[in-house]
Amino acid sequence: MGTVTLIYGNEIQTMVQRLTVATGALASLHPDDTVVIKPNLLVSRREWVGVNTDPRVVEALVKVIKEKGVRRITIGDGSGMGYSATKAFQICGYTDLAQRYGLRLVDLERDRFVKQRVPIDGPFKTLEVAQTVLECNVFINVPLMKAHSAALITCSLKNLKGVMPREMKTAFHRVDLHRAIAQLASVLSPDLILVDGLQGNLSSESGHNPVAMETMLMGTNPVEVDSVVADMLGYAPRAIRHIAHSADAGLGTCDLGQITIRALNRPSRDERFVPPPHYTKRFPCSISAEGACCTCLGNLIFALERLHEKGLLSKEQHFFAGQKPSTSSNSKEMRFVIGQCAVKYENADVIVDNCPPTANTIYRRVASAIRRD
Ligand code: SF4
Repeated sequence: MGTVTLIYGNEIQTMVQRLTVATGALASLHPDDTVVIKPNLLVSRREWVGVNTDPRVVEALVKVIKEKGVRRITIGDGSGMGYSATKAFQICGYTDLAQRYGLRLVDLERDRFVKQRVPIDGPFKTLEVAQTVLECNVFINVPLMKAHSAALITCSLKNLKGVMPREMKTAFHRVDLHRAIAQLASVLSPDLILVDGLQGNLSSESGHNPVAMETMLMGTNPVEVDSVVADMLGYAPRAIRHIAHSADAGLGTCDLGQITIRALNRPSRDERFVPPPHYTKRFPCSISAEGACCTCLGNLIFALERLHEKGLLSKEQHFFAGQKPSTSSNSKEMRFVIGQCAVKYENADVIVDNCPPTANTIYRRVASAIRRD
């Protein structure tokens, strides 16, 4: 039976210290250990709160690790399509953090990659993983808990995608994403997971709608940690298919009755988050976005939310995005192609062909076309 420990509040340093003491998680660290911390740095833009891991959480963790005398600490990640971890380090404050504590920063997309044989069934026989992560002896996964358009939620399991080369991250969206995530979890398991649940997002992985959640979680098994997070975000863990596949592959349990959930304090408000309707049911228009990368779909959803607020969406509109969007035979609808991958829809009325298009570009191009119509 696994244990997931959680704490509520906003006192970041105290929360991280209490979690590590209560779990004994870092008690065996040795000064000669090589530690890699992997946050979630999906975007490299100014509006990153609720999308990227808060550097204050990583700083609190670094302080605890430094108290053990550990000298070699690396922060590493690779960003989402259209973004750069190198820029995210700068914009979010990780560069400053690294200078103050003598840390190494690694943009994992620029790392060397090592092929790993996948021991469980799914779309891949091998996966490539950044050498920096494979060579460390303590790997700490520090994801943010938030919604995800294709996977419903993203936390410690999906955060692992950042250790792979860009082509492979994109390839995950062309196959069964949920099984592919389980396969990745079968080749790389963290020694510790610290979930940043201070401010997440309930509508998409890359949107601009941070929601105060005021919590942090700690555990060692990603299936169990993510199952608790799924429950907190309003989903049955088995409804999150990558959690279910990982559990079925024997990587951990998603049965909440089998997980000891230990809260170190009580929340200041008794609030349960309610998941929004699936993006295909959230707007009056039709959306075909199979195979879209996180940033493409997240940006489209954010733009659609703004278009919907302005009353510009209707059931006569169809949006296509991603690497394999389903087709439509309705010739009467206004057709919008979002992102370079979907440009094969030559009869589209509007094409926004960047990779990925920003939410602002999508909004402006679509709004002006609808107003002209
Ligand atoms: S256009 Fe969108 S779906 Fe295609 S590769 Fe770029 S980000 Fe991914």
